Amino acid sequence: MSQIWKLDGWVIFKELGDQCFLIEFQKMVDKDKVLSGRPWFFDRHLLTMMEVDETVSIHALQFRFEPFWVQLHNLPLATMTEDFGQQFAGSIGHVIRVEAEADGHAWGRCLRVRVAVDLHKPLLRGKWLKLGEKQHWISFKYERLQSFCFKCGVLSHKGRNCARLRAEQQGDEQASYQFGPWLRGQPRNTNIFDRRRYGGGGDGNQHSGE
Ligand SMILES: [Zn+2]
Repeated sequence: MSQIWKLDGWVIFKELGDQCFLIEFQKMVDKDKVLSGRPWFFDRHLLTMMEVDETVSIHALQFRFEPFWVQLHNLPLATMTEDFGQQFAGSIGHVIRVEAEADGHAWGRCLRVRVAVDLHKPLLRGKWLKLGEKQHWISFKYERLQSFCFKCGVLSHKGRNCARLRAEQQGDEQASYQFGPWLRGQPRNTNIFDRRRYGGGGDGNQHSGE
């Protein structure tokens, strides 16, 4: 993992059991880089992460949310704004931030929103938007999404671990899927650590504690 992360300092993995690890970083900048680069997949499995301090008990931790960049496609130009993204993407999960210029407008083929996605809820495939008399289907694509359950649409399990899929296969029904690889969004930045600069030298990616 540390090779994938390309860190400056050392990193130590301490196994806590039950596929749970405590990761210690030598350098704060490395920790920030890893946390802001989420989600991470290892061997196609989602690596859920949480920032902890020494006052918490490991047993009290609940890994329930993971931040993703979600792309909102087919938005009318008037809605390509930070305010709209905040409000509209709220149905996906808690909105951490919207990628937009300093004046609140966004340009590009889609609006990118950083959202804390609930691992136990089905991924939202899109949502209708009514603007004037017109209805628009806004589709959602999840960047860097790898494995998830094509049956239930959740990130917390997949494939053979799916109870619904097993139940269907035990019956004579042909398994049908409502979710698929088309939920994956092509990342817009080839380098995910690419720091985008806006106007006065502000740095859009520097949000610690996401
Ligand atoms: Zn499932």
